[in-house]
Amino acid sequence: MEKIRISVTYGDGIGPEIMRAVLRILAAAEAPLEIQVVEMGEAVYRKGVLSGIPPEAWEVIRASRVLLKAPITTPQGGGYKSLNVTLRKSLGLFANVRPCKAYPPFVATAHPLMDLVIIRENEEDLYGGIEHRQTREVTQVLKLISYPGTESIVRYAFEYARAYGRRKVTCMTKDNIMKITDGLFHRVFEDVAREYTDIQAEHQIIDIGAARVAALPETLDVIVTPNLYGDILSDVAAQLAGSVGLAGSSNIGREAAMFEAIHGSAPDIAGKGIANPSGLLQAAVQMLVHIGLAETAERVNNAWLCTLESGIHTGDIYREGLSRKLVGTEAFADAVIERLGCGPERLQPARFRSTGIEVRLQPPPAGRKDLVGVDVFIDWDGAGRDPDVLGRRVEALGADGLRLKMITNRGVKVYPGGLPETFRTDHWRCRFQAAEGAPLGGYGQVLDLLRRLHEAGLEVVKTENLYAFDGQAGFSLGAGE
Ligand code: NAD
Repeated sequence: MEKIRISVTYGDGIGPEIMRAVLRILAAAEAPLEIQVVEMGEAVYRKGVLSGIPPEAWEVIRASRVLLKAPITTPQGGGYKSLNVTLRKSLGLFANVRPCKAYPPFVATAHPLMDLVIIRENEEDLYGGIEHRQTREVTQVLKLISYPGTESIVRYAFEYARAYGRRKVTCMTKDNIMKITDGLFHRVFEDVAREYTDIQAEHQIIDIGAARVAALPETLDVIVTPNLYGDILSDVAAQLAGSVGLAGSSNIGREAAMFEAIHGSAPDIAGKGIANPSGLLQAAVQMLVHIGLAETAERVNNAWLCTLESGIHTGDIYREGLSRKLVGTEAFADAVIERLGCGPERLQPARFRSTGIEVRLQPPPAGRKDLVGVDVFIDWDGAGRDPDVLGRRVEALGADGLRLKMITNRGVKVYPGGLPETFRTDHWRCRFQAAEGAPLGGYGQVLDLLRRLHEAGLEVVKTENLYAFDGQAGFSLGAGE
């Protein structure tokens, strides 16, 4: 059988120990792999490469399109960038897939029926890293949710559910508050769900959804959610399932994919030979399915389940009375290798099918876009921060049909007619709109307004254009507007 080329990086801390164990298991299972080792992580950071990945590694990864990665230690401070974020973004790995499953009674868990998969959007949301300090008191980050980004992850979730025989996809957002950004995510989910009539679809607000993950994880199947919620939720879920040492994850893109354990480099136990290689092995199993070696993935996974059932456990999951033998990393790998060809007796055996998951996007929404106003953000600390003083001053500067509609402070309307109790910072948003939301004559009107504000001695720290799309406002109202 022709060998499939993969890139492998040994990582830091416990990384080399668990990678050696995993590669030994894959070799014993006769996985037809051609392994190319790439160097990245601490040693590369220390050479002054802030990304932790040397330029030549990119070519190797891009050629193989598959990376099996052991955990990396991100050095603190010094401008070092997270390697994971760099890999995800540079390789366009838009889907983070993290199965969280309990293995009762062999691994202690409070949720024996838990078997869910979190599919987290991996590229956008608050992770764009676009942050600013705008005034002495106020900082901001941009949360970007795009139509194609959302459609990609939502379609991936439904396709995944189909490929892996799962019955339900639950979308989790906070669109009761973020009606435009999370609202888009929810809306696209509802639209795409209609095409998958064989799969149940539901939406939950993230706060109650997260509570359900913690209390009733057995009621959930596949969860699809924006980046930040998915980040938090997937750690909670992995911990609930048993141990962080047990779970693997995939980062899937259109051209490339990366597979890794969910835990870090565990410097506290590095070099002791006691780390559990199971998380990385689970990642390797996902990789085998991804590259079309579903049968080998099944063999490896079933031997691993058999090992868990035999009570041969590493320290992180060893429990007196439950486990039979406490082993280190290498002995655990030996036990898995001895059981290749066996299947579990009580745990459900793994069944995988190699079905390449393809995501085909629909044409993006078209339609009319009109400029109908502008939000001007001002740094102002005058007159005891009395909004009426600022309001009267700014109101006088509106012209050409561009009129001050309201001023908010941290999103709450303070002018006209604000409440004296509302706390006020030095960061004011002045909304200017044409009468009755009519389109402006052009952007020149905004530039003229900014010039008048500037000449009046007001410090504009940012502007945000207000658009209507097919007559629908593309901006939120101020609280109390
Ligand atoms: P960690 O996951 O490395 O360790 C948390 C705890 O879990 C530790 O007590 C550790 O001993 C234990 N643990 C982790 N993996 C284990 C295993 N396989 N077997 C047995 N016990 C295990 O998290 P941390 O301590 O917060 O982070 C350590 C370093 O790892 C940091 O530099 C962090 O930046 C990095 N990190 C890397 C990745 C990655 O490369 N994907 C992910 C998370 C953290």
